[in-house]
Amino acid sequence: MKLGFNKEYWKEQLKHSNWYIILEKDLKEKIFPIVHKNPEVKTFRHKVYELVEELLEKDQIPLAKEGPNLDADRKPIDAIIIHHTEEKPEIRLSKLSAIGFIRQYGLTYLKNDVLGYKLKGQPIWSGHFRNGKIVFFAYHWLVRPNGNVERLLKDDYIGWHSGNWEINTKSIAIALSGDYEKDTPSISQIEGVAKIIKENYRRVDKNRILGHMEIKEKRTCPGAYFLKEWKKTLLDLL
Ligand SMILES: [Zn+2]
Repeated sequence: MKLGFNKEYWKEQLKHSNWYIILEKDLKEKIFPIVHKNPEVKTFRHKVYELVEELLEKDQIPLAKEGPNLDADRKPIDAIIIHHTEEKPEIRLSKLSAIGFIRQYGLTYLKNDVLGYKLKGQPIWSGHFRNGKIVFFAYHWLVRPNGNVERLLKDDYIGWHSGNWEINTKSIAIALSGDYEKDTPSISQIEGVAKIIKENYRRVDKNRILGHMEIKEKRTCPGAYFLKEWKKTLLDLL
């Protein structure tokens, strides 16, 4: 597939509140499929993500001003799911939110039924706010390689992170910022994850701390060395 990024084309479609319907074919071919080693696809996607980020910052993508409570299914937390972003470790939070907006929310709003609501064709709504601004993060926490942690979603919010709604309703998603497909995170980063768990989720059973790959088949997240190496390092720190 030859990918040429036509900024004007994407920009024009994204100005419509039902952009995900207008762009459905492009999204299904070029944005939604999970790819790991494909620099051409990744480069293309980053151009789309950065455009979405820019347009969201400038309020140029129509968003819903209100909407249903998409967190009504939230249940007591009984699991911690570990992810990696598979992006550059220094990624801006606004870009991470833009990725969630197009990938998670765009995909879900294409369904005829969004958690029991008929939202297809409507402007997108998450009901999730951070510093007074609507956000579309999939994860509750982001941990940088130096161990710094950033809270993205409140615990009351359901993160759309695992690909399994039942699990989403009762879990917390912690993402390591970076690409650990073929790499091991630094000890500082693993300590950052441990710190979040110790300070906030002591009641969650240790055997309910799981990698994304352990709860969703065909996923490699959070990378090849999680089960072999650093899951044990993490559990030993708790
Ligand atoms: Zn994941």
